[in-house]
Amino acid sequence: MPVHSIPQSMLEAVRQFADPQVAHDFFVGIRFPNGVACPRHGCGSASVAYLEKYRRWYCNDCKKQFSAKVGTIFEDSPIGLDKWLPAIWLIASNRNGISSHELARALSVTQKTAWFMLHRIREAMTDKAFTKLAGPVEADETYIGGKPRRPSIGRQTLASKKAPDGRKVRENPKAIVMGIIQRGKQGKVRAFVVPNATGPTVANKVRANVKPGAVVYTDADGAYGPLSADYIRYVVNHAVEYVNGHIHTNSIEAFWALLKRTLKGTYVSTRPEHLQRYVEEAVFRFNSRHSKDGPRFAVAEKSADGKHLTYKSLIGKA
Ligand SMILES: [Zn+2]
Repeated sequence: MPVHSIPQSMLEAVRQFADPQVAHDFFVGIRFPNGVACPRHGCGSASVAYLEKYRRWYCNDCKKQFSAKVGTIFEDSPIGLDKWLPAIWLIASNRNGISSHELARALSVTQKTAWFMLHRIREAMTDKAFTKLAGPVEADETYIGGKPRRPSIGRQTLASKKAPDGRKVRENPKAIVMGIIQRGKQGKVRAFVVPNATGPTVANKVRANVKPGAVVYTDADGAYGPLSADYIRYVVNHAVEYVNGHIHTNSIEAFWALLKRTLKGTYVSTRPEHLQRYVEEAVFRFNSRHSKDGPRFAVAEKSADGKHLTYKSLIGKA
């Protein structure tokens, strides 16, 4: 099975993956770089026989068949890899993300299908590896949303408010996203939708993600005060100045700018329950900011392995 090279442009990606066999072989090459092994939980046997006609393998140990999609975000999806791979390319290479409407047009699928595909890809982009950041880090939070929206959507999540003329308007409550970023050119960010920005919430997020004793830069928000006991904390008072020598939160501000550009430009009506996945997409984009499109695509595609998101859990009915 030939392993095809990573496409270097959108045009190459679409041309290359329009052939289902090429898309399949490409994915197999990335997913199983050391040879195909049974992906079923607890098996992992390399004693497998390829059934070329069906693009499936038979595992000689657990005696079951599997496709390249088993155990990935593509499992149970009727959409072929000839559409999945260009979709991953589009979301990974587009600076501001891509809406489900745009993706639907590009792939000739319904908007609902495109919406589900995008959420599965965001799930794949979620970085589940975990080590505490060594610092120096910047920690901060930002507020998302709060714009009026059609009352027919998500009624239970809306807060009521009076307009100046006395009529009732509905608006989303603002969601709070907290971010922690390792400083430096290659510094990675982590970001979380949090229920509030109180001391216990933000301080515990820092403790869970940053090694004790590290240098932590925050604004003057009192919520971060308790961190001074375990960390070397520097404070920039935004009421007075934005930069005082090395004391600033400009690194995390750069991520907020990217996150807001993504949410405002492309995802106009983000439901609160899906916000974390959009945040993960922005995190992925930010953390691969020095990669070229091709390698970034390969990382996103490789990440599809071991992730799963069913339609039921996506719409909150699992
Ligand atoms: Zn097996």
